[in-house]
Amino acid sequence: ATFKALGVNEALCKSLEDKMKYSKPTRIQRAVIPALLQEDRDLFVQAQTGSGKTLSFTLPIIQKLMDASDGTLNRKSGVFAIILSPTRELATQTYNFLASKLCSTCHWIVPGIVIGGEKKKSEKARIRKGVNILVATPGRLADHIENTGNLDLSRVRYLVLDEGDRLMELGFEEAISKLLTQLKKDFSRVLPANMNGSLPSKRINVLCSATLKDKVRKLGEISLTDAKLITS
Ligand code: AMP
Repeated sequence: ATFKALGVNEALCKSLEDKMKYSKPTRIQRAVIPALLQEDRDLFVQAQTGSGKTLSFTLPIIQKLMDASDGTLNRKSGVFAIILSPTRELATQTYNFLASKLCSTCHWIVPGIVIGGEKKKSEKARIRKGVNILVATPGRLADHIENTGNLDLSRVRYLVLDEGDRLMELGFEEAISKLLTQLKKDFSRVLPANMNGSLPSKRINVLCSATLKDKVRKLGEISLTDAKLITS
């Protein structure tokens, strides 16, 4: 199999092959990429670190945003995706992958990061300038939603809960549950006029986890609707 055969567009294929030197998709990418590109359906993905899971959910989101915008999307167009990570380290890795690798073929799509630490003011400023894909840890994201007041969640079309087992182990269930309530409340069907219909009309939720323990299943129950299960 090739990335092209999975439906990945030419620009991204070129960047995967030439820049990242990924010659062929991993097993999890072969299942997740076409599902997200073609099926607007929630996914419960069982995948370990090292399986290539990060690319499997970030690439389809980027491609959908490339398709949706006809090149007119910019950082002010809204937050279309939130990727929740259990730790600052994982969030930073995912953000760096987006910023330095995946978005290099589509520089108009702007990723952002909000994690714990000393940088709340600069995070706030960056949110105000506008980001399209937000990588976050749950506690800090909740803080920005409650206290910053300039994070518009109405256009979020993708929510990824990465390493769901660790999100639960670290006690983030309540923060995630609150986020889900807020996303539901703020959701708007209306997108900017220059965006065509290739984004899903509802929010697509993706839960990734190395294990399928009871706690993770519970996270699935609160976050997913009619999800397709993909195991590695
Ligand atoms: P992840 O499971 O997302 O943490 O990815 C594990 C590692 O595999 C990362 O260093 C990626 O850069 C790398 N990787 C992801 N997809 C591929 C691929 N298709 N071919 C080769 N390496 C990959």
